Amino acid sequence: MNKLQLQGIGMTSQRTRGRLVERLKEQGITGQQVLDVMGNTPRHIFIDEALSHRAYEDTALPIGFNQTISQPYIVARMTEILLAGGPLERVLEVGTGSGYQTTILAQLVDKVFSVERIKPLQEKARQRFSLLKIHNVSLRHSDGGMGWADRGPFDGIMVTAAPEQVPPELLAQMSVGGRLVIPVGGTQNQQLKLVIRVTETEYETTVLEGVKFVPLLSGTIR
Ligand code: SAH
Repeated sequence: MNKLQLQGIGMTSQRTRGRLVERLKEQGITGQQVLDVMGNTPRHIFIDEALSHRAYEDTALPIGFNQTISQPYIVARMTEILLAGGPLERVLEVGTGSGYQTTILAQLVDKVFSVERIKPLQEKARQRFSLLKIHNVSLRHSDGGMGWADRGPFDGIMVTAAPEQVPPELLAQMSVGGRLVIPVGGTQNQQLKLVIRVTETEYETTVLEGVKFVPLLSGTIR
């Protein structure tokens, strides 16, 4: 990929990204840092070329294996909520997928640990990080419902696939004061939740809004 392709032209240009940022503002995204990073990150490289002209529509798009790259609004919203308590050092992401949300996070926190259960998606994401010179991301191929205990505790955890219940392993891997942003529920009725670990034993949960994510599945695919 040459520099022009990376930067984007026409439907993938900086101007098109600018329009996306305007739309995000209209929808209530206020964090300037988040808006800046989303305005500067080429989402079109996270999508198959056949669909890249749609990269800056505010919509989820297929990335293969029955999975989707998340809608820009929800990426912005979840990032903003995760960061609302102050700067984060260690963030766990469950569901690397295309790597787009990972790339946004990596520009806003010190270090991202991202887990994906589908190996080919993880490998594609890895190539994109190297293309974009993102060096503060560690990847693991495993069932992210288990978290990544060796690398915890985390002061932020973001889950981009929906379990029926919040996995207890993730709660256990939060640091005190840590924040977890997670969609919870079945295919018909999901809610985005923020869980804060207030003390060693107390967690505070806030329900934020209705959302629609692919399900968090167990096991891995080679
Ligand atoms: N943030 C990604 C979202 C991808 S969709 C993006 O914007 O591209 C959700 C991803 O979660 C899929 O890639 C899916 O394979 C992954 N996933 C689902 N269950 C998982 C699990 N238990 N562990 C790790 N990843 C999981």
